[in-house]
Amino acid sequence: MSRSFTVGEETTHLIGDRACPDCWEGYPAPCSCGGLVHAAGEEEDPQGAEEPAITRCDRCGRAEDEIE
Ligand SMILES: [Zn+2]
Ligand SMILES: [Zn+2]
Repeated sequence: MSRSFTVGEETTHLIGDRACPDCWEGYPAPCSCGGLVHAAGEEEDPQGAEEPAITRCDRCGRAEDEIE
């Protein structure tokens, strides 16, 4: 039984897990649909981004940008 969820190239996010081990710092975040928005970032970001490159809800599949 796997509840894994793919965000970008990371396949190890866990659906419905508020303590998702592979999420960007500060995630998962609650989505308006009741799911959780997971986030993945670039491992090597030359600009040292402070925001995740990719976000995706584990229930509705929207990115954080699309929800707002
Ligand atoms: Zn996650
Ligand atoms: Zn959602």
